[in-house]
Amino acid sequence: MPECELCERAVAATTRHHLIPKNRTGSPTVDLCQPCHDQVHAVFTHHDLKQYYHTVERLREHEEMAKFVRWLRKADPDRVQVADTERVRRWRS
Ligand SMILES: [Zn+2]
Ligand SMILES: [Zn+2]
Repeated sequence: MPECELCERAVAATTRHHLIPKNRTGSPTVDLCQPCHDQVHAVFTHHDLKQYYHTVERLREHEEMAKFVRWLRKADPDRVQVADTERVRRWRS
């Protein structure tokens, strides 16, 4: 089973996250489980990702992500749901 590079859980399938968005061809990628991937995009704007949060270590250091990963490791994976933060919602609209 593949492993998520953020929460390090073994999961049925991972999704590919581009560490540097909008530069997809040259962007390094990491394999994340769906909840982690959703959470990354719920917490960070493309601008944040491009400017600073373009390594797994930095993503993990962010308080919201660290909290999420801690919680996810204990959560029932079938009941995991991710909601966008207020800031990202505003940025998108
Ligand atoms: Zn994960
Ligand atoms: Zn992504």
